[in-house]
Amino acid sequence: MPCQKILTICCAATLFCASAANAQSAKKIHRAAILVDTHNDFPSAAIEKKVSLDQSLKGRTHSDLQRFREGGVDIQVFSIFCGPEQQSPYAWANREIDSVYAWTARNPTRMMLVRTSDELRAAVRAKKLGAMLGVEGGHMIEDKLENLDALYARGVRYMTLTWNNSTSWASSAWDETLHRDSLSHVGLTEFGKSVVQRMNMIGMIVDVSHVGEQTFWDAMAVTSKPVIASHSCVKAICPHRRNLTDEQIRAIAKNGGVVHLNFYAGFLDSSYERKRDAFMAGHKAEVEALVKQDIQPDYAIMMVLEKYPEQLAAITPSIDVLLDHLDHIVKLVSVNHAGLGSDFDGIEAPPRGLHGVEDFPAITSALLQRGYSRKDIRKILGGNFVRVLEANETGKR
Ligand SMILES: [Zn+2]
Repeated sequence: MPCQKILTICCAATLFCASAANAQSAKKIHRAAILVDTHNDFPSAAIEKKVSLDQSLKGRTHSDLQRFREGGVDIQVFSIFCGPEQQSPYAWANREIDSVYAWTARNPTRMMLVRTSDELRAAVRAKKLGAMLGVEGGHMIEDKLENLDALYARGVRYMTLTWNNSTSWASSAWDETLHRDSLSHVGLTEFGKSVVQRMNMIGMIVDVSHVGEQTFWDAMAVTSKPVIASHSCVKAICPHRRNLTDEQIRAIAKNGGVVHLNFYAGFLDSSYERKRDAFMAGHKAEVEALVKQDIQPDYAIMMVLEKYPEQLAAITPSIDVLLDHLDHIVKLVSVNHAGLGSDFDGIEAPPRGLHGVEDFPAITSALLQRGYSRKDIRKILGGNFVRVLEANETGKR
């Protein structure tokens, strides 16, 4: 019989082998899966921080071309966005699309524009980052269906019906929750319903992230195609106005859609924003100095927080909390309706351990540790999104 000491060494060796095997298997699964992240705000971050995707930006942004590769990201949907304070959101949208086109043109061996599921698969086969476009906020079409058509023609494949601001035709989660009495309408107007119908017709996915509950239910009643929430979390775990109720998640599942989880600490953990505000109270002057340099307030806060990585890590939740949100969706409606929509470069604080796009493999390891099968992981990482993209493509259904 082995002595106690040998037994201890053997046990430790077995544990080491098991975790090494797990790491190997996670790597293999991660590499074989199509990884789609449905929301990344780099085009806006690029303008605010005056940087480009093909630069090396570790420590300055959550994303760059090299780190997408390190993280095994196959398809990135870039968010095309500006706040409602901009005079011409449609022109701004085209400016950001021009940026994505320019990065793609400058790096033809490393990335390509993706507009269809066939192009998506071609990008995966060619081992290039597939760049997709999603418009964030119905205000970007300036109340014109022809602008919607023109954005589709330039490659945009989803649009959130609102951002935090309501449009003349759809009310947002922000306004329905905080300013309901001052809204001229709650939910979708007749024009708003025609926007949803037009999106269905041309093959642009309806995105319900950011919309108010009434807009959500009106959109679900009108849409004939599966929807997505490109970057939202679970209200039952974190009761934030931007998160989805179980009833909404059930409706998205019934419609064949997918909820893609946002990595923002404030949507994952209800204690984060209180802790963040307490920290920021001592750094107001730094934020104001950046805003004076014409930086959008949200990005100014983000840039100040990034200066203090240790303090930020102390108030952000762990990756486990993100997995808790995912488990909740899977238990509620099955693994067919969960995905990832990081919101990297649009959020000030991802969970600890997810510093940027290079850290996506940590999610695959965590899924494996929680007992998800290879087949389930493939669905979560991207398979579910591909299903919705195909269902929205005209002539494929
Ligand atoms: Zn957003």
